[in-house]
Amino acid sequence: MEQPRIAVTRSSLPPFEEYLAEIADIWDSRWLTNFGTKHNQLIEELKPILGDAGIALFTNGHNALEAALAALGLDDGEAITTPFTFASTTHAISRAGMTPVFCDVDPATCCIDVSKVESLITERTKAIVPVHVYGMMCDVEAIDAIARKHGLKVVYDAAHAFGVRKEGVPAGLFGDASMFSFHATKVFHSIEGGCVVYQDESLAERIREQQNFGMDFAGEVNVIAGNAKMNEFAAAMGLCNLRHLDDAISSRRAATERYRERLGGAEGIKLLEPQPDVEGNYAYFPAFFDPAVFEGGRDGIVEKLGTENILARKYFYPLTCDFPCYSDLPRAEVPIARKMADEVLALPLFEGLTAEMVDRICNCILK
Ligand SMILES: *Cc1c(COP(=O)(O)O)cnc(C)c1O
Repeated sequence: MEQPRIAVTRSSLPPFEEYLAEIADIWDSRWLTNFGTKHNQLIEELKPILGDAGIALFTNGHNALEAALAALGLDDGEAITTPFTFASTTHAISRAGMTPVFCDVDPATCCIDVSKVESLITERTKAIVPVHVYGMMCDVEAIDAIARKHGLKVVYDAAHAFGVRKEGVPAGLFGDASMFSFHATKVFHSIEGGCVVYQDESLAERIREQQNFGMDFAGEVNVIAGNAKMNEFAAAMGLCNLRHLDDAISSRRAATERYRERLGGAEGIKLLEPQPDVEGNYAYFPAFFDPAVFEGGRDGIVEKLGTENILARKYFYPLTCDFPCYSDLPRAEVPIARKMADEVLALPLFEGLTAEMVDRICNCILK
């Protein structure tokens, strides 16, 4: 008999009644979007987690990232970034009018290799756009030092880093701005949604313009921009999910620990080691499969898991620099990122993934 399917992810949801209660007063106010009560409340409730800084909410993380770049005036020149990421990071840079310049990654974290950044800086370089991959944190101090030395802006793709802290400091408080995604598949979600966390209060109005057709706080249209406001129903989902965030993270943590017990030390499998000064969020469980040990390599494992109705995701493969739409850029010299993309598999991880399910997955891999 076929075993029940284990998907790679499954969205967390609050109890149905809780969401109904949360949206009930929207029927009284009839205020459905445009910076409403739920939207404003969500900002306040995010501050203890994301940091006491400017927070602007968006329709989704991608729009938030584009808005951060636009608000910082980044619309030409080059941005140094990494290709071991979701399409969004590279597309946001390109759609802003900048050329992505790909830096290799550090194999210990999958984040930008800071020792290789300076050699990529040219007189056209305007920004560094690093990614906190899987909720691992970039070397923020080194990036900050390089940016200050060369007068560059830093915008983090922190889509994976909700709730992550380094020495107690929330991830969003580094760089000029950070983007978080509240997509349904993320550790915390508002169905679709996202935010920009920014340090300089004078950016507030520039970011507002990007949320709302270029309108400033006085309603005057100064710049050309689209529409990316978070609506009240999305904010209400965010408010509900925040109340259950600790449970969601504990459940992910327990599953992660089980994976580590089962797969840690297994021949041919490399896991990322937790960073000692970082409080993580257990967003993903990537494992890297050595093709010299596993026949067929990572793709062989995907197939094997598939036969037992277990879905894993090649996250991230291919590298964004290898997408056909970037074929006119010079070939990126990123050997470590290429190797990691060839070997990586994000194993199923979500709130409610039980020890029994983790065992079923690990038994299949180790068989
Ligand atoms: C999810 C994600 C995004 C985009 O966020 P959306 O909210 O889906 O628009 C960007 N970058 C990374 C690394 C992501 O994982």
